[in-house]
Amino acid sequence: MVKKYENLYINGQWVKSGSGDIHDIINPATGDVAVQIPMSGEDDVIRAISAARAAFTAWSQTTAQERSDYLNAIADEMDKRADDFSRALTLTLGCPKSVAPWLQVAGNSNGFRNYAKRAFHMERVDKRDGFKVVKEPIGVCTLINPWNYPLGQLTGKLAPALAAGCTVVCKPAEQTPLQDIIMAEIVDKIGLPAGVFNLILGEGAVLGPTLCGHEYVDMVSFTGSTRAGVYISQYAAPTIKRVTLELGGKSPYIITEDADLESAVRDCVAKVMMNTGQSCNAPTRLLIARSRYEEAVAIAKEAAEKASAADPNKDCTHVGPMSTERQRQTVLGYIETGIGEGARLVTGGAEMPEGLERGAYVRPTIFADVSNDMTIAQEEIFGPVLCMIAYDGIDQAVAMANDSQYGLSSHVFAKDEEAALAIATRIRAGQCFIQGGSFNGEAPFGGYKQSGNGREWGEEGLHEYCEIKAIIS
Ligand code: NAD
Repeated sequence: MVKKYENLYINGQWVKSGSGDIHDIINPATGDVAVQIPMSGEDDVIRAISAARAAFTAWSQTTAQERSDYLNAIADEMDKRADDFSRALTLTLGCPKSVAPWLQVAGNSNGFRNYAKRAFHMERVDKRDGFKVVKEPIGVCTLINPWNYPLGQLTGKLAPALAAGCTVVCKPAEQTPLQDIIMAEIVDKIGLPAGVFNLILGEGAVLGPTLCGHEYVDMVSFTGSTRAGVYISQYAAPTIKRVTLELGGKSPYIITEDADLESAVRDCVAKVMMNTGQSCNAPTRLLIARSRYEEAVAIAKEAAEKASAADPNKDCTHVGPMSTERQRQTVLGYIETGIGEGARLVTGGAEMPEGLERGAYVRPTIFADVSNDMTIAQEEIFGPVLCMIAYDGIDQAVAMANDSQYGLSSHVFAKDEEAALAIATRIRAGQCFIQGGSFNGEAPFGGYKQSGNGREWGEEGLHEYCEIKAIIS
């Protein structure tokens, strides 16, 4: 029996959608309907924005202690609902059940706790010569998220917005609304004041113009494709809203000639295959000194073959299906393009993984003999596909790393940390992981160039939701 969700969450109430439309969410592991959700109409969006606007005056004037208490209460409830979050991720995203708890769920409640502490930063007064500078919440925020890390992306926006004193309208991706529905249940349970958190569900392309263009909205925070980011910026432009964008990436991973090749290549392959290749910061361009190229290809091949795609409900699966059949077709299209452009298919390819007959699966794929100007090296594939590129000299490696429309993330593995740091400072990207470093929820996250603008997480994540006021005497 398919579970059917009936309601949106607007102004502290569970309400029926005005459109009456129902959307089937497909389980990507099987192709069967997983759950059904209501789709919001434009009237629902306007109701949600109006509720957020009405709630803003009181919420923005709560004390930091009050907001901090609410955020900590949300965190405690999130811990109690951790299994529900994980199950939802396996069902709708196909995230393996052995992976979802640590990759997608753990850490988010602490994200809320960290912003519970940062709520007090809103009360700091910066006294300067003849004037004071204070921070105030920007207002009503629309939070639009994609499907790849739906809970993490919600936390990275919602926790700082609430800590700052903003009110919000959340719109998750069509494929993965369940974490936002669970979050609505949580805020309802802890008694967050009505209108502070509102949830609408539906298609971004349909709801976007109102969600991002309405006069009552002060800020839009978006994660997703560069294509949608451009539309969102256009909807927001006539009313001069603040827009923060976390967009795509094609991140480089430079391994120097004298580095520990085995550790570095394995680290890169693991990060590409993580979340079945659906990470915007995945290091999908591996840059290797020509003298060690074939050695690196052999290590990558072995690592990718160990990571074969399988049923996400099996205990030992690390790579599941793509999020949707549409995403699978996109990735297979890029694999065909890579072969057509003359790249060497080392392992993987467009066939279904062995032992699987249905589901949106793609084989972990490694391409060698890739040049940085090929389509597969320039466009975001968003699947378990790694491109290996040879370089002659570190200056060429840095130049190729920077030769991309994107600048979200980057990696350097050198002989030692000092050597890696010297290269890290030359790369145009919002993050650089050195010597195998991995995601840190306290570090600011965001892109240079067409990977977006603004930062999420950490202290910088709070600043995005603030206005600055100078009080002059
Ligand atoms: P998308 O950008 O179309 O969707 C992401 C979110 O934006 C969803 O909630 C969607 O409903 C909404 N949206 C879409 N068009 C909108 C519009 N015109 N106005 C307002 N909201 C809109 O992404 P997708 O189709 O789910 O994935 C396509 C590609 O995006 C992927 O292949 C990948 O390259 C990229 N992507 C990047 C990230 C990231 O974290 N940076 C995440 C997911 C997808």
